[in-house]
Amino acid sequence: GLTSDAHEFLTLNSALRAGLEANQFSLHYQPRVELGTGIILSVEALIRWQHPELGFVSPGRFIPVAEASGLIERIGLWVLREGCRQQRAWMDAGIAPGRMAINLSARQLAQPGFIDILQRVLEETGLPPDRLELEITEGALLEDPQAVAEKLKIVRGMGITVALDDFGTGFSSLSYLKRLPLDSLKIDQSFVRGIPNDTNDIAITRSIIAMAGNLKLKTVVEGVETDDQLAFAIAEGCGEFQGYLFSKPLPPVQLEALLRQSRAR
Ligand code: C2E
Ligand code: MG
Ligand code: MG
Repeated sequence: GLTSDAHEFLTLNSALRAGLEANQFSLHYQPRVELGTGIILSVEALIRWQHPELGFVSPGRFIPVAEASGLIERIGLWVLREGCRQQRAWMDAGIAPGRMAINLSARQLAQPGFIDILQRVLEETGLPPDRLELEITEGALLEDPQAVAEKLKIVRGMGITVALDDFGTGFSSLSYLKRLPLDSLKIDQSFVRGIPNDTNDIAITRSIIAMAGNLKLKTVVEGVETDDQLAFAIAEGCGEFQGYLFSKPLPPVQLEALLRQSRAR
């Protein structure tokens, strides 16, 4: 009911605030792999929260709370810093993937000082901008798509690439898509789930890949779990994939083993 929802919101939000102070967050990283070669082109940073009493709380549960309360600005800044720091450390160790991909919430991107914050984090961590990618969702376009497009132009001008995440699940109009400065589309895993049995999911995924190609955007298929799904992505000419079939999101030490293997290829 409403009361218990409000209670859950308040409880989680104050726990999140305390969690920031107490260093309860960490990042796991999931490889994004080039189809055909199996080379890890980038890794996506995914936040993890281990609370002393609540246990592991999934981002699907707490990110919406942090977005509603505004706490996402501080959590997102922590993620950006930590992801950039880790990528720089992997560069220094000679094992860094091409790019570190960081998820941005709509609210972070809408912050007035966002570009300054981004520049400061890159300077502080010593990460070259061409080793970073930002993932935004269609939700970021809802309020002021023109302002978002202008910010993304600056971001890409710095050498950072931009991916549109969870593509196909939001309500963004296709006319905005062609005007948005983007590098790639990540096809949402809800469509991939139905491959190879659901003819609608096949048709939708195929159309997104074809449309992206026409707009000169790269495509990433998310949530690839089976050989059939991988074979489909290859047959359709998709460029990259991400999913449990290759690797789950891993803590940094475990990911390093995969990065070393990828380099050896
Ligand atoms: P996302 O950015 O679309 O991330 C992909 C999600 O799919 C991750 O869930 C990942 O663990 C999961 N996944 C990857 N491959 C597979 C697969 O083969 N099968 C299945 N079933 N799932 C797969 P996760 O880590 O629970 O994150 C969920 C969402 O929470 C993310 O979706 C993103 O929207 C949000 N999120 C996570 N970390 C951050 C963050 O640092 N900042 C922001 N703003 N959002 C974040
Ligand atoms: Mg993402
Ligand atoms: Mg996604």
